[in-house]
Amino acid sequence: MRFDYDPENIFAKILRGEIPNKTVLETEHTLAFEDIRPQAPVHVLVIPKGAYVSQDHFARDATDAEILDFNRTVAKLCETIGVEEGFRTISNARGHGVQEVPHFHMHILGGRPLGRMLA
Ligand code: 5GP
Repeated sequence: MRFDYDPENIFAKILRGEIPNKTVLETEHTLAFEDIRPQAPVHVLVIPKGAYVSQDHFARDATDAEILDFNRTVAKLCETIGVEEGFRTISNARGHGVQEVPHFHMHILGGRPLGRMLA
C-alpha cells in the first residue's frame, strides 16, 4: 500500500499552528484536542505529530517510540477527560471509512451511554 500524505490537510495545519485548536494534552509525538463538531459530551481527537494518513499507515511505518507515545497518551486521556464510565474509540480510513481528514486520528467519545454501533 502506498500512502500519499497531503501536507495541506487541516490537522497538518493545526500541528503547524496555522489553525487554532483546543488542546487537551500534548506530548513529544502526539497531540490531543477537542473535535470542532462534538458527537458526544466528550469528543477528543488524538493525532500523531508525524505525517501518517491513516491507522494502518501509522501502525506500519511509525517508530516504536511514536506508537508507544500515542497509546500511552490515549490511556492517560481515558483517565482524565471524564470517560471513566466507558468510551468508544473510532478511526475512520479512506473512502469506505468516510475519512474526512487524511491525517491519522483516533476519536475518543464518551460522557454518555453511546448505544450499540457496529457500522
Ligand atoms: P473523520 O471523519 O476524518 O474521522 O473525522 C474528522 C473529524 O475532524 C470530524 O469529527 C470533524 O468534526 C473534525 N474536524 C474537522 N475540521 C476540524 C478543525 O478544524 N478543528 C477540529 N478541532 N476538528 C475538526
